Amino acid sequence: MTTIWTGDLQQLLQCPVAGCDETLYQPTTLDCGHTVCKHHVQGHACPVTTCAAEMLDEEIVPRPMRLRIPPGSRMEYEASLSGSGERPHLDLQEPPKVNRTVEDILAFLDEEDDIGDALKPKTIFTSELYAKLTCLSCSKLLYNPITTPCQHTFCAECLRMSLFHGNTCPLRCRSRFGGFEFWEEHPMDSLMQNLLLNFFPDHTAQRDQANEGKKQDSAWTPIFIVSLVLPGQECSFQIFEPRYRLMLRRCLEHTHKSQSSSGFPTMGLMMHDGRANVLRYGCLVEITKVQMVYDGRAYVEVRGTVPFRVVHGESLDGYVVARTKILRDIPASLPSPTPRSRSTHNDKLQIPDLVEICLGFLSLMKRHGHDVVDRITRVHGQPPISNPSLLSFWFARILPLNDFEKAEILAMQNSRDRLDRVIYWISRAAGPELV
Ligand SMILES: [Zn+2]
Ligand SMILES: [Zn+2]
Ligand SMILES: [Zn+2]
Ligand SMILES: [Zn+2]
Repeated sequence: MTTIWTGDLQQLLQCPVAGCDETLYQPTTLDCGHTVCKHHVQGHACPVTTCAAEMLDEEIVPRPMRLRIPPGSRMEYEASLSGSGERPHLDLQEPPKVNRTVEDILAFLDEEDDIGDALKPKTIFTSELYAKLTCLSCSKLLYNPITTPCQHTFCAECLRMSLFHGNTCPLRCRSRFGGFEFWEEHPMDSLMQNLLLNFFPDHTAQRDQANEGKKQDSAWTPIFIVSLVLPGQECSFQIFEPRYRLMLRRCLEHTHKSQSSSGFPTMGLMMHDGRANVLRYGCLVEITKVQMVYDGRAYVEVRGTVPFRVVHGESLDGYVVARTKILRDIPASLPSPTPRSRSTHNDKLQIPDLVEICLGFLSLMKRHGHDVVDRITRVHGQPPISNPSLLSFWFARILPLNDFEKAEILAMQNSRDRLDRVIYWISRAAGPELV
């Protein structure tokens, strides 16, 4: 059993307020993650002079628990301004509470007096400190510790998970918390983090490594079930449920899947389960923009890239993750993996012929004086004429069909089949003489 010299412990338990420099007395942990003697605190300003600067300096350990978007990500990210706003859950009149966990750790130092032998270095067992640095939620050693205004300390992930169940402290104290957004980029508890790094360095390194492993594991794709998106299509949606915000955070930090080759984080989008067979197919999307909003929502803009088939789906922390097979196009010369259920008898036609038929439909509509084509291109952009693959999806987007029918072309792995299907749809809508 290893021991810790309390002299080492004492160094870390110094009050960081300039001019105090004593061992902490009645410690309280502030929103910035600093732990100071309670009597220094007035209002909500942190009495640590370097505090504001430290918060901005990413290099200083411990850094805030803000989103760790990997460098090189091309996604645009706008954090909400909740950090600078008023904290809804704090009562300004209320005096700061004392952090009992830190007080318990300070008690290790006091015990020295009882022995009355100042010359003999006092030690405690590592296990004693370990017990104090345990998460109140998962009962494991803290990882990325966050201390709440009610002075309870949890792993960042444990705290966020507990917020699924309500905006109160998960412990019996039941203090009211601000919403999810307040904790989204909340700074770590610097004292706890320093204690962990000093006395249990392997632990944090191992957890970091385990996370790193997960980051490289691209086997699981997080799936957001919201609506049909096709390759080339841009769309936006809102995320407000905490479990999906957790999913989004993991996507942005690329915990689930490495970013796409073009530098955007990715996830899978699928439509709602109206008909079970459709739910086997979805579309990978690149997350191009995320805007966090103070009230807890996130606006997300995405662009469809490539269809996938779900091989195996599971639930993770309240959302869906799946092992998927990416369905890239197979050259038309090879046999199609998907049987063509509807043929428009265009078997002898080549892709350029099929493209021409599709575009002919647009010209015809224009000739008939429908301004609908202008309206379509305003919403969906110009047809990608030089890219038959994207063109097939473009037509699927603009045709007046239900989404379940459109979703079927996600399973088709060549442009020829998809264009064939588009022509079938056109002929059904506009009459066979058109094609
Ligand atoms: Zn002090
Ligand atoms: Zn501070
Ligand atoms: Zn925990
Ligand atoms: Zn509490």
